[in-house]
Amino acid sequence: MPEKISPGMQQYLDIKKDYPDAFLLFRMGDFYELFYDDAVNAAQILELTLTSRNKNSEHPVPMAGVPHHAVQDYIDQLISQGYKVAVADQIEDPKKAVGIVKRAVTQVITPGTAVDFSDRSENNFLVAIDQTKNQFALAYMDLSTGEFKVTELTDFSGVVGEIASLKAREVVVGYTLTSTQARVLSQQLNLLISEQLDCEIPTLIHLSALTALENQVASKLLTYVKRTQMRDLSHVQEVEHYAIKDFLQMDFATKSSLELTANKREGKKHGTLYWLLDATKTAMGTRMLRAWIERPLIHAEAINTRAEITQIFIDHFFERSDLIESLKGVYDLERLASRVSFGKAVPVDFLQLSHSLSHVPSIRKILENMDQPILSALTERLDAIPELTALIDSAIQESAARTITEGGIIKTGYNAQLDTYREALENGSSWIAKLEADEKEKTGISTLRIDYNRKDGYYFHITQSQLSSVPEHFFRKATLKNSERYGSKELSEIEEIMLEAKEKSSALEYDLFLAVRSQTEQYISRLQAVAKVIAELDCLQSFSEIAEKKGYIRPKLTPNGQEVNIKNGRHAVVEAVMGAQEYVPNDIIFDEKTNIQLITGPNMSGKSTYMRQFALTVIMAQIGAFVPAEIAELPIFDAIFTRIGASDNLIAGESTFMVEMSEANRAITQATKHSLIIFDELGRGTATYDGMALAQAIIEFVHDHIQAKTLFATHYHELTTLDQELSALTNVHVATLEEKGNVTFLHKITAGPADKSYGIHVAKIAGLPEKLLERADIILQKLENRPVSAKKLDNHDEQLSLFDFDENSTAIVEKLKSVNMDNMTAREALNFLWDLKELL
Ligand code: ADP
Ligand code: MG
Repeated sequence: MPEKISPGMQQYLDIKKDYPDAFLLFRMGDFYELFYDDAVNAAQILELTLTSRNKNSEHPVPMAGVPHHAVQDYIDQLISQGYKVAVADQIEDPKKAVGIVKRAVTQVITPGTAVDFSDRSENNFLVAIDQTKNQFALAYMDLSTGEFKVTELTDFSGVVGEIASLKAREVVVGYTLTSTQARVLSQQLNLLISEQLDCEIPTLIHLSALTALENQVASKLLTYVKRTQMRDLSHVQEVEHYAIKDFLQMDFATKSSLELTANKREGKKHGTLYWLLDATKTAMGTRMLRAWIERPLIHAEAINTRAEITQIFIDHFFERSDLIESLKGVYDLERLASRVSFGKAVPVDFLQLSHSLSHVPSIRKILENMDQPILSALTERLDAIPELTALIDSAIQESAARTITEGGIIKTGYNAQLDTYREALENGSSWIAKLEADEKEKTGISTLRIDYNRKDGYYFHITQSQLSSVPEHFFRKATLKNSERYGSKELSEIEEIMLEAKEKSSALEYDLFLAVRSQTEQYISRLQAVAKVIAELDCLQSFSEIAEKKGYIRPKLTPNGQEVNIKNGRHAVVEAVMGAQEYVPNDIIFDEKTNIQLITGPNMSGKSTYMRQFALTVIMAQIGAFVPAEIAELPIFDAIFTRIGASDNLIAGESTFMVEMSEANRAITQATKHSLIIFDELGRGTATYDGMALAQAIIEFVHDHIQAKTLFATHYHELTTLDQELSALTNVHVATLEEKGNVTFLHKITAGPADKSYGIHVAKIAGLPEKLLERADIILQKLENRPVSAKKLDNHDEQLSLFDFDENSTAIVEKLKSVNMDNMTAREALNFLWDLKELL
């Protein structure tokens, strides 16, 4: 027989039914309670004691609770683990309630909408996606800063790339996902998936200039946010359209293998380009820097503006130091603005606002002193919002705390009524002092004093030994161990005036504070605007700091150029990690006829590092930063495609080779003449001939049909003869020094193909047994006798061991050719012979 459900439980169940995917925190007295599965699960996650309601009944209800004052901590824990939380509060005064107290959900907190707990220097983006037949749209919003953007994409892998680069934790889906899509989002990207199929026509933001699909996805996102937040969203900025193709395109695998903003080991910032370039001083700047790195530019003018300002900052050392000092005083204006809009701003937040804004005029002055026309666009946008500073400075006390109910917030002189209360309080204090002195004299009790506490109010403190001198008109208030507390009529009168003044002044301060808060709302968009300029300045000063410290130079970009001329370039991050002395600089040269470099060289010689060096240099140049090189002339690229390493198996269930091939396919189908392709050991994931055949066919295809700049590192030695048929392909190799059977990697990229595989030598360095190595040598010789497509191997012959080493043999031949025997002395001839022997 079903048990009768209490009205309280019925109310709980009614509310819970609307929030099946969230932990429901149900306010009861001083606790938030969880029931049923919520209680069981939360007890485990939060380490709460699991109890039950109706313990003795047949079906006790599992229950767990958290004290209301500590609820935020528990919510944060749940959110940080990717859960949703719905908070049901009492929405009427329990004393006035007839029957059961009314309760309702007042906010739903989700990983993508949490604004309180996330890291200061990171955005917390909530993403929404939607779809029509063959088009995707994606919108994203950071509720803590108000940023709101939307774009269209042609395929789901593009969607995945965007979501990953935004580092979102929750995705709102506007359509029913396929099971593969759901798996990728939830398992690969570790996202909480929330459905939002319908949408309200948003009144908050006008969605003109968007496509119908963009409009729809932005609206669904907004609807979701409105329904979960149930509070003012006036700081959410007007949705802004962006196009992926307006930026240097890189897919998720590329960004992740280049370790732009997250390292591969743990997904953290350390050891990434973001880490290297970050000398920002404000949280806004840090966030913007990450966004810049995620989206390098492709328009020469925009890139040049950033680089130009970086140069100006380098040239103005003292002004830059002043700028840095001022930036250090600027708090997170974007987050402060959103706290105002959410009605969460406390007095300290206003002090931080005004403090931050007070630096804006000096920043303006510093820029003006540099006297550079290109800075004026930024200078003009530096709005100090004097009206807001004036408001805050007149209203909020410097000593104000976080609490808003205890008074001590509003400055004297701001409100006449408040001033009279304060006067009364002050008078009261002097009345009390006078009464204390009078009574002390009249009674002759030298230790008599007036004290105050919450329970007894004001009282005369009399010690045990003086009790006999207590006068008639005192009445006892409390008895303690060694003393007694007395009141008097006069004291009560003063007390009443004071308590009333105190209560009224606190209440008035509270109201005045709320008024200041709502007055501040009108400045939110101006605050966001000035925050953007500050963030930009911060990024640019960071570029100049790093460039100066590390000796980077300004790259010369040729928007439609074909040539690449990088002299003594370095891999910025590897150099920073290993130290500038250790890193061997390399030239990267593509003349006008060259599109493809085929890179050979032993394992661990530096092929991958060289290729990444190029990609990083391109990215640094296109975010407007300086680059590690002596000369850097390069075109502006529209996209970077990579196939590096064998990890990041993004689409579940696909084999490594499948991933390899689909990444190669993406490059081949999407790259243009202006793209950069990096293929690192393509074909490795399958059988030798199979892989080599594919590698060669891909190179030929890129050569003939795409003409993108391509770096192709390979261990297929046979491919080095391709330069004979493919005019735009050149061979380079990583030079090695071989001495007495030992190999030293010079990490130096040199023209021409590598002459042989040094695998066995590497094995020797690694300490493999001599016998094994000898055996490997014999096997190698046998294998190399096998005729393969490449010519070089055809004429390989053990008899001709003199010419085993291409580099040496050509050097010897060159030397022989160049010598003129006729005018040589005997001694010179002998020396010459000696040199030849050396070369051998
Ligand atoms: P490969 O791809 O040829 O196997 P890597 O590029 O992975 O080799 O480089 C192997 C190691 O060699 C790197 O971890 C790095 O320590 C070192 N290295 C590579 N390039 C350089 C360089 N230019 N200068 C100094 N050390 C380098
Ligand atoms: Mg490698």
